[in-house]
Amino acid sequence: MQKIIESLVSTGQWGEHDVVLGIRAGFKCEYCDKDLLASVENYKEWQKDHIIPTSKGGADINDNIAISCKTCNVNIKSRWNPAELAEENATREDLIKIVRKYVKNRRTQMLSDICLFREIAFSE
Ligand SMILES: [Zn+2]
Repeated sequence: MQKIIESLVSTGQWGEHDVVLGIRAGFKCEYCDKDLLASVENYKEWQKDHIIPTSKGGADINDNIAISCKTCNVNIKSRWNPAELAEENATREDLIKIVRKYVKNRRTQMLSDICLFREIAFSE
């Protein structure tokens, strides 16, 4: 792990904190499993999300940060707080599980909307 950290940081394009969090996440979005090193588009979606938003009292610590794609973070989860559906003393893994379910449901709904838009857009 130390070698990966040193090697990525030595490229000049990675901060050590991002590498440490990236290794923990497998360099994938922790909410939808998008491989963030699979393409330019995916790589450009790399973000850090506060699982419990700081605006809702979430701490700015590694335990409250998830690597997320921009789509999940900005367009889907945004400031939604999984702690509202979690039991007291929920772990990081519990909260991520709740976000994953929320993201999956929202993506299904959005895809359904997009299918309708496609039908209409290409109907002639
Ligand atoms: Zn995602």
